Amino acid sequence: MTHIDINKPILDKNDKLAQSNRELLQEKKVFALDLMASPGAGKTTTILATIEALKDRYKIAVIEGDIASNVDALKIKAAGIPAIQINTGGICHLESDMIRSALDQLPLDELDFIIIENVGNLVCTTEFYLGEDAKVMILSVPEGDDKPHKYPGIFQTSKAVLISKIDTLPVFDFDREDFETTVKSLNPKAPIFPVSAKTGEGMEEWIDWLTAQIDKVKFA
Ligand code: MG
Ligand code: ZN
Repeated sequence: MTHIDINKPILDKNDKLAQSNRELLQEKKVFALDLMASPGAGKTTTILATIEALKDRYKIAVIEGDIASNVDALKIKAAGIPAIQINTGGICHLESDMIRSALDQLPLDELDFIIIENVGNLVCTTEFYLGEDAKVMILSVPEGDDKPHKYPGIFQTSKAVLISKIDTLPVFDFDREDFETTVKSLNPKAPIFPVSAKTGEGMEEWIDWLTAQIDKVKFA
């Protein structure tokens, strides 16, 4: 993509610091997940349901990326989980220096799992490596089944794809079979997890996959 060439110096600088984040996380045996989605896809709700399922098993922290406000960080803190808010001040994605300043504020020796909630954006969030173990994306049913055609990059970068709000399938014209076929063609290895944080449907499969990823790092 020409876009990447234009931003090459920025990306080189970002990747260098991301590599140092990677080394720090590895040393501390902390699994870091970069969660990407559009605004309103249900990232925070999914994070809260994920925390609920895993909080007795792991020590968790959340890094919240938003252009402005600390609404999401407050919701996480209300669940009893440490949360660091990053306000990007207009930048529509997180960069590795922002993650580094958040990591410096977290008790990494005590943690097993960090969830990074990226800024709501399906495009440039995929281009910035933060030092995470995995990028995972959420696509909500109301956004439509055509998104893998329009934004192939994010589907290719993700290690797993969540379809959120599946409790709304009866009211939206969402062709799940077409969606899954397109995602598989873009990224054959990524598992697809249809979930509803509201009803709890599908959460078990997602949590099982995630647990295996976290344990690989924790017990490495
Ligand atoms: Mg949010
Ligand atoms: Zn951006």
